[in-house]
Amino acid sequence: MAGPAARLLRWFRAAARPFPWREPFPRDPYRTLVAEVMLQQTQAARVAPFYQRFLAAFPTLEALAAAPQEEVVRHFSGLGYYRRARLLHATCRTLLRRGGWPPPGELQSLEGLGSYTAAALAAFCFGGSEPPLDGNLLRIAARLLAHEAPLRAASLRRDAAALGRALYLEAGTPEVFEALMDLGAQVCRPVSPRCPDCPLKGSCRAFQLGEPQRFPTVPATRPVTSLLWVAVWIRSRSGAVLLQRRPPGELLAGLWLPPLRPVLPPAADPCAVARELARSLGFAGSLQALPAVRHSITYRRLTVVPFALGAEAPRVAEKREDQRWECPDTPGVPTSSLLSKLAAAAGQGASGGPPATTTPGDPP
Ligand code: SF4
Repeated sequence: MAGPAARLLRWFRAAARPFPWREPFPRDPYRTLVAEVMLQQTQAARVAPFYQRFLAAFPTLEALAAAPQEEVVRHFSGLGYYRRARLLHATCRTLLRRGGWPPPGELQSLEGLGSYTAAALAAFCFGGSEPPLDGNLLRIAARLLAHEAPLRAASLRRDAAALGRALYLEAGTPEVFEALMDLGAQVCRPVSPRCPDCPLKGSCRAFQLGEPQRFPTVPATRPVTSLLWVAVWIRSRSGAVLLQRRPPGELLAGLWLPPLRPVLPPAADPCAVARELARSLGFAGSLQALPAVRHSITYRRLTVVPFALGAEAPRVAEKREDQRWECPDTPGVPTSSLLSKLAAAAGQGASGGPPATTTPGDPP
């Protein structure tokens, strides 16, 4: 073995960080699962002491599965992301119920195991040859290949997997995957890669191009779009507000908000649009402009001008399934934070309002 895998392993054996989960291959799958779950979202150096304390408390899969969930979560205290602890607990219970580990190719079907963790378990414990594709491996592959696709692109994942497989084939050990992870953490870092110290620089196209940090490429960001909408704030005598369910295919689809309408050119007068919207709902009367509200939805920047109906709200003309009265502080339907912004503009912020009512047609 004299290719890039050999150079990588030689570097790794000299520079590897001594973590407690780095046991000889094939590794114990339970201990590996615990390590991999803890390593999600948390730096390896921080995980090490937690990992040892956790295994002292739950030395086997059976011990973990038998423990109450709160006890398992408590042992993640300080690591954050407690959902990981619950999923780990659920996975161990599932494994116990089904009588052991599934074949390596079916690991991903286990609840709570993503493609990375499944590949890591398969490679480190069951002789699998598929590389676990983490951010480090994808970044290294993007640079080695001077890949023009951004980090999340399917084409980069496919080519990174092929590269990992080729290195594994040359090395004959999953240690090569761990070496790539350490190379990404120590040498081929996201910022300021230490190319002169890199065992793979001889076969790295980004290094040869003299621009390692140009890879992985950054996807073009979508231009920001500004939108102007009006909202009609119709309040009942008891303080409930008329909400409508946003129609499918529209922005904020399925969420319950006050009646909204875009102000499209050439209609330049928000007040006229709001008046027409109120009239279409069966409400007449004067409208009072309230302070405009800003709301962002991905690349869209919404400015919503709310108009309050001045008079006491009359009866809603039409009973509709997509329309109901709700207290804006505690709506009993799915909504967006835009509702609380509009409530604040209308002076009906989270100060505790009257009880909600949910009669679809008539105001309470
Ligand atoms: Fe990364 Fe530089 Fe090594 Fe290429 S030569 S893999 S860019 S550290």
